[in-house]
Amino acid sequence: MTPTLRDLPVDSLAGSRALVRVDFNVPLADGRVADATRIEAAVPTIRWLLERGCRPVLLSHLGRPGGVPDPVFSLEPVASALAEKIEAPVRFVDPCDGEEAVSASRNLESGAALLLQNTRFSPGEKSNDPEFAARLAALGDFFVSDAFGALHRAHASTVGVTEHLTPCAVGLLVERELEALGALNDPARPFVVGFGGAKISDKIDLLDAFLERADRLLVGGAMANTFLRAQGLGTGRSLVEEDAVEVARSILERAGPSLELPLDVVVTTDLGDHDARVWATPVDRIPDEALAVDIGPETRAAYEGRLDGCGAFFWNGPMGLFEDDRFASGTFALARAAASATERGAFTVIGGGDSAAAVRAAGLMDDVSHVSTGGGASLAFLSTGTLPGIEALGP
Ligand code: ADP
Ligand code: MG
Repeated sequence: MTPTLRDLPVDSLAGSRALVRVDFNVPLADGRVADATRIEAAVPTIRWLLERGCRPVLLSHLGRPGGVPDPVFSLEPVASALAEKIEAPVRFVDPCDGEEAVSASRNLESGAALLLQNTRFSPGEKSNDPEFAARLAALGDFFVSDAFGALHRAHASTVGVTEHLTPCAVGLLVERELEALGALNDPARPFVVGFGGAKISDKIDLLDAFLERADRLLVGGAMANTFLRAQGLGTGRSLVEEDAVEVARSILERAGPSLELPLDVVVTTDLGDHDARVWATPVDRIPDEALAVDIGPETRAAYEGRLDGCGAFFWNGPMGLFEDDRFASGTFALARAAASATERGAFTVIGGGDSAAAVRAAGLMDDVSHVSTGGGASLAFLSTGTLPGIEALGP
């Protein structure tokens, strides 16, 4: 079993420095935190440590600065946002490694937390450079891994540091993610999976994994267009992943009737023109000049029906271009159906960055069993059963 906070030696925690990898990869606007969801997600672990007298030393990346310092990606604005959430002082040090950072970690007053500058300001982060990892490890007496959204990457702050610190444990956020996603290995039946979004190629492994595990796969979004093409149907000017049509054909053959494609789709003639006509059409009658942008009303009803009696539901990928209100009906209908299924006792999990955003936009974050905080990480975990950042913690 992956070690958790409860496996730490409780009696010797007071006064020790907990090096915690968190996911503070938050959107910034005008130098301020624009969405604090990820900061809030890290609060329980930080509070847990503070309550036991530990001194939390926090590492995170933000954006893609490319291994060099770049003020646009500074974590400094996160320090004040975090202080508000944990109701404790948060010190900030730049850079994240070196003498100043180490002495700040040693001199941190009890009851406060220390946030370090963006780990990706150093090229050693992404290359998992052992020397950089050792310098990070010098900032703590033990390691807590709570950046679920980053654990599919073997970087210095997610994997490298674990070589130098004992004990290592996952934090409360990662623990909850592993529990919820792990439960899908042995789901209540029927187990229904919803698949959508943009590309098949990003999600081949996941599709393969669920082809075996799920009782029913409901496909929508642009992904469905590629399957329709594989069936020989015309898809007009819809987004189709040409390179994946062959793969789609082979998936269709292997899946048999458990894989369901849209019966009808919502189409339009011009995405940019708000006066352009929007209408529903059966999938075998998509006009050459039209683009499929959502599942149609018949499909919506059919998919809702599948969720009606399900035991478990996993969903990745919006059913349409939900960022545009005109094309959000299918995605929001599936989100509502997931919420109703949850109310009736089904176990429902949403994975994927855009899928989570869709459920948030529908106002249903608290009405499903679990919304994963990690896009790529949740998909990688479900495909392979583990993550590099989990493997590194040992049994
Ligand atoms: P996730 O982040 O949940 O894994 P993806 O990144 O695979 O999801 O896909 C999300 C994107 O797919 C959304 O931005 C959405 O607009 C787009 N999308 C879904 N359906 C269509 C469609 N029919 N045509 C074009 N884009 C689509
Ligand atoms: Mg996405």
